[in-house]
Amino acid sequence: MTMAPALVPAICDRYEMVVGLEMHVQLKTRTKAFCNCSAQFGGAPNVNTCPVCLGLPGALPVLNAQAVELAVRAAHSLCCKVNEVSIFARKNYFYPDLPKGYQITQYDKPLAENGHLDIGERSDSSPVTIRITRVHLEEDAGKSLHDRFAASTAIDLNRAGVPLIEIVSEPDLRSSKDAGAYLRVLKQTLEFLGVSDVNMEEGSLRVDANISARLRGETKLGVKSEVKNMNSFSGVERALEAEFSRQCGLLDSGQRIIQQTMLWDAAREEVRPARSKEASHDYRYFPEPDLPPLILSQDWLCEVKKQLPELPRDKRARFIKEYALGPADLDVLTSSVLLADYFEAVARQHGDAKAAANWVMGEVLGTLRMTNTSIARFRVRPADLSGLLNLVRDGKVSHSAAKRVFASMIESGDRPEQIAEREGLLQVSDSDSLGMWVDAVVSENPDEWERYRGGEKKLQGVFVGKIMKKSAGRADPKRVNQILSERVGG
Ligand SMILES: [Zn+2]
Repeated sequence: MTMAPALVPAICDRYEMVVGLEMHVQLKTRTKAFCNCSAQFGGAPNVNTCPVCLGLPGALPVLNAQAVELAVRAAHSLCCKVNEVSIFARKNYFYPDLPKGYQITQYDKPLAENGHLDIGERSDSSPVTIRITRVHLEEDAGKSLHDRFAASTAIDLNRAGVPLIEIVSEPDLRSSKDAGAYLRVLKQTLEFLGVSDVNMEEGSLRVDANISARLRGETKLGVKSEVKNMNSFSGVERALEAEFSRQCGLLDSGQRIIQQTMLWDAAREEVRPARSKEASHDYRYFPEPDLPPLILSQDWLCEVKKQLPELPRDKRARFIKEYALGPADLDVLTSSVLLADYFEAVARQHGDAKAAANWVMGEVLGTLRMTNTSIARFRVRPADLSGLLNLVRDGKVSHSAAKRVFASMIESGDRPEQIAEREGLLQVSDSDSLGMWVDAVVSENPDEWERYRGGEKKLQGVFVGKIMKKSAGRADPKRVNQILSERVGG
């Protein structure tokens, strides 16, 4: 079988990429899908297991209600029709990390169908809407660990039975860029919904792609291949480019595409066919005899819909309206729910959204980046940051002093007023104190003072600088300027 050739744009230009994506999303539940074991990531191997998720004879699954609610939330946010009746099915296959010998999933009667997701605009500013085929509930398998022991594979079943949803899109994506945009919007939506940790490194998001190529203008779908083993969104984009280019090369030389599974090799930047054993499936699906049909009442479905958290697109629209943010600020400040909440709390308490945005995007994000911390663990509370911004607005601390106060707030967690006072950073604006500093500087620089009085206006800045220095940065520069002007009768 051919390896992926280098991208041949001349050939590829004549073809169109057609992609559908399947995303597996680990739901943020406390326990597993069908037993009471913890669903937490990162425990010692096999500590979170019980007869149900080990697949011991006689153990019976009991469906986790929280998993159903999170799945329904996701389905609603993707504008799906949620079925009042859906059926769990067994998907039978043998694999060492699948102790039951089957996975409980949903097959011909899934939880939800026929949704859509808006993923932004193409370069010609036409909106792009991707249809969602289905959203269904299933359980995860365990993990085979090939790197723990030299000559053997170890099995960790902590993940076996953890609840997932699979979100399947229609083949509506037309480029790797489309695919990247879809994945990013979907990930952000799921994060805003609070249904998943959306952490790719910990495996709570996994993506497979179905891709085919066809001549531009053709409306029939070509033969597709499935690309697996991509562990980042940019990996998905690169894998699609590689597979598309391979398909274009074959089509252009008159060969046919064989429907098969390809594996992405990120280290070598290429796709290669999975061994036929990895690809050939006869899952012999049948309804899960140990679980009744999942029946959801219309009332309950409406209730869940009503309580959906604000979605990214709605938050963006509201931030534009309430805080008059520009597109660049919006992108940053709505990039996560927690950051958006933080900004909003500061903006509301302080009143000046622009100042709040500047501080959150500048000092706050800068600090988080430097200390590699998340906003969830950030020490400065919104109320204290807005308190600091109030001090700046009221002329009680200068902008540069505010940065020192902020640094101290991160260290000590103290309130800005306390710190400014303790560290002598409160701005001095009373005429007596300012007058003393002005007198001192004037008497130290008699020649410049004469020239300034004689009309050399540009020396005013020099004097302000010297007075600021004399006051150790505490003089209110606005008042200093006024006093200087008064003294020369300006
Ligand atoms: Zn269990």
